[in-house]
Amino acid sequence: MTNKELIGLYDQYVMGTYGRFPIAISHGQGAKLYDFEGKLYIDFASGIGVASIGHGNPAWAQAIFDQAMRLGHVSNLYYTEPGGRLAEMLCERTGMSKVFFANSGAESNEGLIKLARKYSREKYGPDRSKIVTLLQSFHGRTITTLAATGQDTFHQHFFPFTEGFCHVPAGDLKALKAEAGEDTCAVLLELIQGEGGVLPLDPAYVQAVAAFCKERDILLLLDEVQTGVGRTGTLFAFQQYGITPDALSFAKGIAGGLPFGGFLTNEKCGSVLGPGQHATTYGGNPLGAAAAQVVLETLTDAVLAEVIEKGKYIQEKVLAMNSPYVTTVRGLGLMIGIILKDMGHKELAGKLNEAGLLALTAGSETLRLLPPLTITYEEIDAGLKILREALTSPQ
Ligand code: PLP
Repeated sequence: MTNKELIGLYDQYVMGTYGRFPIAISHGQGAKLYDFEGKLYIDFASGIGVASIGHGNPAWAQAIFDQAMRLGHVSNLYYTEPGGRLAEMLCERTGMSKVFFANSGAESNEGLIKLARKYSREKYGPDRSKIVTLLQSFHGRTITTLAATGQDTFHQHFFPFTEGFCHVPAGDLKALKAEAGEDTCAVLLELIQGEGGVLPLDPAYVQAVAAFCKERDILLLLDEVQTGVGRTGTLFAFQQYGITPDALSFAKGIAGGLPFGGFLTNEKCGSVLGPGQHATTYGGNPLGAAAAQVVLETLTDAVLAEVIEKGKYIQEKVLAMNSPYVTTVRGLGLMIGIILKDMGHKELAGKLNEAGLLALTAGSETLRLLPPLTITYEEIDAGLKILREALTSPQ
């Protein structure tokens, strides 16, 4: 197959819901990807934060193969070993009590929303269903998670959206307190708003929100779909924020490329959802759970410490380029935003793609980097060379 033939197949048969770059990927190794004609791309995108331990990881591939030969799927009517072991690993490494397994980020957030509404309804009655989220947030593309998302551009076409969400400016404690009244069951936050533009919340603000929520028994829910699974240099970002949420969602990098996600809860919320009240056919499936165990085993404390170091290295190198098009660089670990001026983020991403570097965009002016967490310095330098060329040569 050629690049052109593959793109032709998509054009003919796949719905045009994605603004794809004209690149057909054939295979990859580590943070290197290749198209069907052998062109090399350095991967600073990792499939939007999913290929957390790189492409073609032998331990990951072997675990999936071994599990597939043993048991592929039997449903949640029965107990399976990978799910049990993964649940133990996640709870032990986060201090949380219970997990529910899902298949994607949006679906994991739906679970958080159901959890909060049921918790509050049982304890305080039906008039406490509102969930406060932040402007510029992104929580998924189901009807309810679109409603939770604090960006007007997502509140179109699909009316009526789910009721009971309101959005306040990030960092504005007064606004949050004003909205989160007697009718509110939860506050839902991304600690670093990924799609919104790689916008980290201030730890003092997050701690104040956590204290306010605790005082009122409003559940503090974290959407760690993008920040979780080592992306910021700890297994979850909350571990660097001096707070513990009541529940948090995860997905993306957890199974290194297989569709998998879920949410973790503290003791207080661990038995809110009972039999028949929340379920999904594939949730916790053995293949994904086996893959996720390899991801967690790979993300040792030493590897996580390197995520922080590599993130700092990239940020420093980008700043040192002294590009006239860069306003600032921000982020945590290997979740990095390069804020641009006088250069469109989409145009830059396209230019980088052509030159052999895959990078993402976010917000209205951010080039977003989410490389595999196991990227080597040699791969980082190769990517930075392409980035430097694009950011320092005249447009
Ligand atoms: N929440 C956050 C913070 C995300 O970044 C995303 C995806 O980008 C989602 C939820 C939705 O995840 P999914 O696309 O797996 O449904």
